[in-house]
Amino acid sequence: MPGMTEHDPTARAYAVRLDREDPLASFRERFVIDDPELVYLDGNSLGRLPLATRDRIERLTAQWGSELAAAWDSWLDAPARVGDALAEAALGARPGEAIACDSTTVNLFKLASAALELAPPDVRAIVTDAGNFPTDRYVLDGLARARGLELRLIEEDPIDGPQPADIEDACRAGDVALVSLSQVAYRSGALADVEAINRAAAPARVLWDLSHSAGAVPVELERRGVELAVGCTYKYLNAGPGAPAYLYAREALQPQLDNPIQGWFGQREQFEMGRAYDPVPGVRRFLGGTPPIAGLLAVEEGVRITGEAGIVALYAKSQALTGLIVELHDAWLAPLGFELGSPREAERRGGHVSVRHPDAWPITRALIERAKVIPDFRGPDSIRLGPAPLYTRFTDVHDALDRLRSLVEDGAHREVDASRRAVT
Ligand SMILES: *Cc1c(COP(=O)(O)O)cnc(C)c1O
Repeated sequence: MPGMTEHDPTARAYAVRLDREDPLASFRERFVIDDPELVYLDGNSLGRLPLATRDRIERLTAQWGSELAAAWDSWLDAPARVGDALAEAALGARPGEAIACDSTTVNLFKLASAALELAPPDVRAIVTDAGNFPTDRYVLDGLARARGLELRLIEEDPIDGPQPADIEDACRAGDVALVSLSQVAYRSGALADVEAINRAAAPARVLWDLSHSAGAVPVELERRGVELAVGCTYKYLNAGPGAPAYLYAREALQPQLDNPIQGWFGQREQFEMGRAYDPVPGVRRFLGGTPPIAGLLAVEEGVRITGEAGIVALYAKSQALTGLIVELHDAWLAPLGFELGSPREAERRGGHVSVRHPDAWPITRALIERAKVIPDFRGPDSIRLGPAPLYTRFTDVHDALDRLRSLVEDGAHREVDASRRAVT
């Protein structure tokens, strides 16, 4: 009786039907999946390995082995080439506006420094939210201290994230040099209203961190009038551990921005080995030293798959996947003492959902050790469930939540070793 399961999200048949109707279903075959039983819901922390990336890295090692330094001719433009691919497939930006390099942490430092150099002399503060990703807060704190500025932390709503009104309050005195925020909050998954926040911050510039949004939601930097952004590639873009990050600077602003790390890869006519630093005019001036080629090629492959699937289709599936998590939370987890730690409305969330429980840490351990489900834990009480629309099936979400509720019902989380690990 197919009609009967249609409106019952707790029925496995409902998830089976969604998988059958999923236009992106075949993309799962393009990833390494060693254990079909394992449900991986941590793609928002480290995406899966694409088969094409494994081949590409193998070809790179062969090229390195045979061509040696002569291969630099084909490697030299990788940061700009990969930046352009990112701009098109994931960022909604134009060619020449993004470059792949360094880590998100380093890129945040470079762009924040460049933006602070442009701020009027009477400014006193940098604004971010208390719940922003730690490395973002640490970098901004260091910059504020070095420049004698105040780091003004917004105490945002833990579920909805920073709102335009919060930013307006923080910038009211007109003394703010820079606002830096994440488009999607790493803990709750709240999706920020980028355009309204940019307006609320003005005239202060806003630097966006896209680490948890690129590859999951349409970022649309051009259309939204974003000036500055950074983000990482190893989450929804599947580029692998420590793969280079990217930075974006709107074309009109680029000539005014100075890279605080004056490296030779940002230099005009680099191999003239000129005496004085004379940076190229475009976004390439934000390159520092020799780029990590293996990582860049992995970014290129990850971004290619995202581009083929299309960010609009990925976002639609992501909203459906997280929507199923919310429905199953309400039906199965809420009666067991869980609370939703993410916005309920699909248009206010990014690609992951947090569920909160006082025993979140032992439950996370039990999921990994006894139920073949990999989420991650974010203290004090959140279990993050990050379905990746390129390879997570609706039945994966169904099975993961089913295993989660039965292990809590059975008290299995009281039997695991609950000592903390180095990585959670
Ligand atoms: C993942 C993430 C980072 C990671 O920064 P790294 O320099 O790659 O370690 C930074 N900011 C946000 C918001 C993130 O989600």
